[in-house]
Amino acid sequence: MIIVLKNTATEEQITSLRGEMSEMGLAVQDIHGENTLMIGLAGATEMVSEDSIVRHEFVEKVLKISEPYKLAGRKFHPKDSIYEIAGRKIGGGAFAVIAGPCSVESEEQMLSIARDVKTAGAGFLRGGAFKPRSSPYSFQGLGLDGLELLKIAREKTGLPIVTEIMSQEYVEIFEKEVDVIQIGARNMQNFPLLREIGRTGKPVLLKRGLSSTIDEMLMAAEYILKEGNNHVILCERGIRTFETATRNTLDLSAIPVIKKRSHLPVIVDPSHGTGYWDLVYSMSLAAAAAGADGLMIEVHNQPVKALCDGQQSITPYLFSRLMRKVEKVHEIVAAADI
Ligand code: PEP
Ligand code: MN
Repeated sequence: MIIVLKNTATEEQITSLRGEMSEMGLAVQDIHGENTLMIGLAGATEMVSEDSIVRHEFVEKVLKISEPYKLAGRKFHPKDSIYEIAGRKIGGGAFAVIAGPCSVESEEQMLSIARDVKTAGAGFLRGGAFKPRSSPYSFQGLGLDGLELLKIAREKTGLPIVTEIMSQEYVEIFEKEVDVIQIGARNMQNFPLLREIGRTGKPVLLKRGLSSTIDEMLMAAEYILKEGNNHVILCERGIRTFETATRNTLDLSAIPVIKKRSHLPVIVDPSHGTGYWDLVYSMSLAAAAAGADGLMIEVHNQPVKALCDGQQSITPYLFSRLMRKVEKVHEIVAAADI
């Protein structure tokens, strides 16, 4: 961090500012420009409040050199993070596919879809038991009963389960029962929830907020990492823009941007990202081509009867065709020598 001082700054003011900064344990170094004096700060600068420094009337501006996400950032962790979850790898060249219905509806539905997506090659089973619906009159999910059905599907197929948590009250149950805890777009900045999940030892799938920047997502991941949980997977699921032709605008450029800034694995959800089943195929291939570490796809055995998000759910048949193609795209992208 660099503090640029105004020419009017007095020696007394500068000495006092230097003292303030070294009391915080920072290394303080004067930098002399042609007509300007700057103070360079090194150390735990994320603790420094930029706002309180610029409030000094003798300070011109504050320049930040490093990103505020020290744990999520690549700077201090240059290698890709690779996690092993229930014998499956995510990150660093391994391609993970999470598939299943938007919501858990019944045992028969879960088992049928779980078997189909497993046969097609999915590594993880998804299904919402607690659903964040825009309307309080829409199906809200089966809650804990839904979690039980997910467990049955896991037992019968061996697929680890990924499901969304909406409230802190269920953290203990989720830690015990699920394989990957999903934090949905609407809760990406629910900081108490992020902290609480950060204290669990469970891998977390953190979805990008509806109107969040990439840096905001990385700061949300930082909340989880800071509490000691170092298994965070990021998920690009589209953002709000002026475009109405799709439910959200799938920001595929987020993949290489995140890869530059962070070591965390990043997967793509083309189902929520587009909102239409017939766009899922092409956007999945595009995500693999852009270097994603995996996909989260909504698959339903009877999309027209789905209680939630049927319009964006693909059938098991289309999913199996997609899997074959996406693996090929991933192979080409992962081949370092081309
Ligand atoms: C979901 O994956 O079920 C979901 C609700 O997604 P999002 O939080 O991205 O809207
Ligand atoms: Mn959904």
